[in-house]
Amino acid sequence: MRKKIVAGNWKMNKTMDEAVALTSEIVNMAKDEVRNDAQVILCPPALYLTTIQKYITDLPNFAIAAQNVSDKLSGAYTGEISAVMLQSIGIKYVLIGHSERRQYFNEDNALLAEKVNISLAHGISPIFCCGESLNQRQNEDYIGFVKNQLTESLFHLSEEQLLNIVIAYEPIWAIGTGMTASAEQAQEMHAALRAHIASKYGQEVADNISILYGGSVSAASAPELFQAPDIDGGLVGGACLKSRDFTEIIKAR
Ligand code: PEP
Repeated sequence: MRKKIVAGNWKMNKTMDEAVALTSEIVNMAKDEVRNDAQVILCPPALYLTTIQKYITDLPNFAIAAQNVSDKLSGAYTGEISAVMLQSIGIKYVLIGHSERRQYFNEDNALLAEKVNISLAHGISPIFCCGESLNQRQNEDYIGFVKNQLTESLFHLSEEQLLNIVIAYEPIWAIGTGMTASAEQAQEMHAALRAHIASKYGQEVADNISILYGGSVSAASAPELFQAPDIDGGLVGGACLKSRDFTEIIKAR
């Protein structure tokens, strides 16, 4: 069955000292709270990946994710980080398709498909983010919009490749706004995305893909969200920067 996952996206926050302090606090508070079938994923800035990794090496339920990867293999791409580089330091997950990357760096579905391909080719599982804007939710077929994000960036994959993807549904209107989607709103989308996957890959594959919810998840909102049948955990932004809040969210899973 699919994994239960709580991932924390630190974005562009924390100095090295703060990053180390946050990691050791989370590890100390949460290491005995993570159930056997669950995974905690920390997504620090790239500069800290190898340092943070040392704190979780003996903890099988903890992993590290990069926040980004280049769609190019190597070469003259100043400032970029390749999948080969991430693989060479043992990174197992990468965030792909976060709405901030889509919005500020013009990453579209076709480019994201390339990033997915290059990550999988180097043994790195994409945490593929998708989600609609408030305008789309109010005026358009918002479920169709998010389904299409999956179709265009993931549905060229083989069944075996798809099983290495984690999906994170993150409605843009809920990210960093304090406006969490209700458990009903999130469940509606998660069930629709799972059905969409089943229509292409079959129910068994769909039942094995973890679909996380992201968007202002807090210690208060996590328990209800995580009880919904198609919500397999969370991708957490703001609340993962505080060890106590993040640990409470881990416990809710
Ligand atoms: C995110 O950016 O992935 C996120 C979910 O942020 P927040 O929890 O702060 O809304």
